[in-house]
Amino acid sequence: MIDPKPSASHFINGAYMEDTGGAPIEVIYAATGEKIAQVHSATPAVVEAALTSARAAQPAWAAMTGTERGRILRRAADIMRDRNRELSELETYDTGKPLQETLVADATSAADALEYFGGLAGSLTGEHIPLGGDFAYTVRQPLGVCVGIGAWNYPTQISCWKGAPALACGNAMVFKPSETTPLCALKVAEILHEAGLPAGLYNVVQGYGDVGAALVGDPRVDKVSLTGSAPTGKKVYAAAAAGMKHVTMELGGKSPLVIFDDADVDNAVSGAILANFYSSGQVCSNGTRVFVQSGIKGAFLARLKERTEAAVLGDPMNEATNFGPMVTEAQLQIVEGFIAKGIEEGATLLTGGTRAGSLGWFLRPTVFADVTDGMTIAREEIFGPVMSVLDFEDEADVVARANDTELGLSAGVFTNDLTRAHRVIGALDAGSCWINTYNLAPVEVPFGGVKGSGVGRENAKVAIEHYSQVKSVYVGMSAVEAPF
Ligand code: NDP
Repeated sequence: MIDPKPSASHFINGAYMEDTGGAPIEVIYAATGEKIAQVHSATPAVVEAALTSARAAQPAWAAMTGTERGRILRRAADIMRDRNRELSELETYDTGKPLQETLVADATSAADALEYFGGLAGSLTGEHIPLGGDFAYTVRQPLGVCVGIGAWNYPTQISCWKGAPALACGNAMVFKPSETTPLCALKVAEILHEAGLPAGLYNVVQGYGDVGAALVGDPRVDKVSLTGSAPTGKKVYAAAAAGMKHVTMELGGKSPLVIFDDADVDNAVSGAILANFYSSGQVCSNGTRVFVQSGIKGAFLARLKERTEAAVLGDPMNEATNFGPMVTEAQLQIVEGFIAKGIEEGATLLTGGTRAGSLGWFLRPTVFADVTDGMTIAREEIFGPVMSVLDFEDEADVVARANDTELGLSAGVFTNDLTRAHRVIGALDAGSCWINTYNLAPVEVPFGGVKGSGVGRENAKVAIEHYSQVKSVYVGMSAVEAPF
């Protein structure tokens, strides 16, 4: 196993940097409750160093060709893949997620983003617009300095989903991980520089929300990309608006997964498991409101209970384990509060609902049946392994109920009726949707939400729009005609 202790708290201007003047942040391994590392929150001097170096480095980076920038990103992707095991172990230490999962979903996804945007970098161009004798052209320009602020569930992936398009477009980035998971982004910075990224272009500063707020409020910052909860999103969006900064907001969800009678039972159960229990339920796009049509309900619940109870909880570093702990005890307690509410408000606890093991923050995967729309567990984002199963009869009715939320990150439909699948998914208010599968998010596909779940999209070609801006130039080719 790797040693999870980082060389220092921050990564600034191409090197690790320490400043013990900032408040200590303990890194606790969720599987055992043990302290495995410590970093310090960024002091104002660290924030200043990060922003100064980013600002200084960005123009020369933007002046390189896209192909040159892309080559560095693709080299970083190769290094990440070569070190996938080490990075996956670190991700497991940072988050508690089982290695079985981190080996295939974290550094690999981060590497995909670096490779994809590295590949696109050389083709970022403007257009030529003929105007009779005159013409115009557009130039795609970087925004400048981008700030990335991450949630704790995917620390490696989030740092690259933001960093890769930002760098491909010629920006510099200052990234603040969640204080809960400060380790992985430092490794990403180290690898980017090993791949040849010039100093100052990808800085990592640790800290709580106040450090994020200091970055967002700084006039030298041109763009803010946040992955976090909807309430934090509103605060950060407002602070960014005060400086007229560009934003990408990847926020929470309370997404519907609609299972029709004609779906294959086992396939639908697999979808519901993927939609609720991956990363111990700590996934923004989870389909936590599982609407099941009455004809399939009995078979669905029986198979779901059986398969959920077969989850293998235990040491996350053991590759046979497929269900890990919650990220922190505080998060576990929040989720336990929701479970108590579910019971109190009359939902049927089908399975789970209790802690497991004597060490760490393990909560058994939990399923509630007979959930109704007004219950707290059907309305609020829980961010833990709690699935709510709701009944329905009629298609139009389920669509209206599924859309009755302020959030709109994701949605899923399981049915073997081709036209119904597209009709229903078309009617659901969500940005990232699946038909007959759930929670797959390859870099080629845009990812993000509508309504209260966010603004902008990550991944795919569309992300370029969110990390660059267009300058248009009109060129006059004949004498100017003035009115006087
Ligand atoms: P939070 O909203 O609590 O925090 C997100 C980040 O914002 C953290 O780094 C946090 O720092 C920072 N922050 C908090 N306050 C401010 C502020 N005023 N200004 C600037 N930065 C601030 O989210 P969690 O970390 O608890 O993550 C869980 C949430 O993230 C869930 O709601 C989930 O749905 C969402 N999420 C969304 C995803 C998406 O792509 N749509 C993907 C993954 C998660 P600190 O933690 O140090 O306080």
